[in-house]
Amino acid sequence: MNILVINAGSSSLKYQLLNPETGVLLAKGLCERIGIDGKFTYKPQAAGKAALDAVDVAMPTHSEAIQAVLDALVDGTNGVIGSMKEIDAVGHRVVHGGESFNKSVLITDEVLKAIEDCIPLAPLHNPANLTGIRACQKVMPGVPMVAVFDTAFHQTMPPKAYMYALPYAYYEQDKVRRYGFHGTSHKYVAGRAAAMLGKKPEEVKLISCHLGNGSSIAAVDGGKSVDTSMGFTPLAGLPMGTRSGDLDAGILQYVMNKHGLDIDEMLNVLNKKSGVEGLSCVSSDFRDLESAAAKGDKKAELAQEKFAYEVKKYVGAYAAAMGGVDAVIFTAGVGENDKAIRAMVCRGLEYMGVKLDEAANDVRGKETVISAADSKVKVLLIPTNEELMIAMDTASIVSGK
Ligand code: ADP
Repeated sequence: MNILVINAGSSSLKYQLLNPETGVLLAKGLCERIGIDGKFTYKPQAAGKAALDAVDVAMPTHSEAIQAVLDALVDGTNGVIGSMKEIDAVGHRVVHGGESFNKSVLITDEVLKAIEDCIPLAPLHNPANLTGIRACQKVMPGVPMVAVFDTAFHQTMPPKAYMYALPYAYYEQDKVRRYGFHGTSHKYVAGRAAAMLGKKPEEVKLISCHLGNGSSIAAVDGGKSVDTSMGFTPLAGLPMGTRSGDLDAGILQYVMNKHGLDIDEMLNVLNKKSGVEGLSCVSSDFRDLESAAAKGDKKAELAQEKFAYEVKKYVGAYAAAMGGVDAVIFTAGVGENDKAIRAMVCRGLEYMGVKLDEAANDVRGKETVISAADSKVKVLLIPTNEELMIAMDTASIVSGK
């Protein structure tokens, strides 16, 4: 079975063709500058097939972009499949499913309407995701399509975790609550973690740390998300590359008055000029922080410390929330690659049974145990694979399993 996974943005579209049963990736790539001057990238994974790197392809709309993807996949010389018939289904990443979706679903007209209804909750992302779905339906009529939501995995949170202490009407009338994001990644790594521990998902308590440019942590008890650090929007929780994470809302009024900012300008600062970049005055990239800190830059060091400290606090909080933890998982760009941050997070957690093995932690991007043999709580490094999770969900829905 081959599944085409699509992640559509407003002017870009990422794609992968993979086999969810074997996990084998056949090809991947990217359409950029859709509606502008169209750049197409294609990376077949089979030996002897030539790649395309940001070549000019006219893409006035997402439909031409999808057509370019299909043309490349079935190309007689460099394609990876014989014909479009070898694509069994398409899995679409959709950012926001609100309270309407607690799992992935086959796309129908009602589903499209419900995704549309969630646009106020994700005004930048859901419209682009819908455009990608509609373009695919046009170019690939009759092929089943599945929507996989970033928010769905967190729909199992209890009200005490997802409610804000605000007037209740904001929830009832305006849908203000914690939704959480990165659900596809948290679900994937939680599933892998249970397998690595040799247990069923229902038997384990996990803390999943997705630390990338955007970062979030999830408490996963018995295979279900019971709390997560992102909130109504992805701005909440940890400090990130350029996002502030949680802060005292009173700061907004003070800074806006002092600097004459309106709310859009303030939100722009919180989303794009804060986080480790704002704090370090160096970069949003943890590699740059590391090298600046090594040269004695105190603000870069502070940004690393602040980030690791906040991750550590969530680990403690979620262990308390679940009444224990069997494993802590590190994933995404920083979690998979930055051994110094992992060590800083784990240092001082020995009292609760977390004991990192420094030698085992000297590793990047590989699924492995990095805690000491006698560590009560296992520490796991698990490279995330959101596309594979989307393909697996899509396959299980279209095959009715
Ligand atoms: P996104 O949230 O955009 O999906 P990723 O999960 O790809 O982000 O993470 C990207 C981030 O990972 C980079 O900004 C960088 O900070 C970090 N990163 C990547 N490689 C390394 C590395 N070798 N060491 C430390 N950090 C790294």
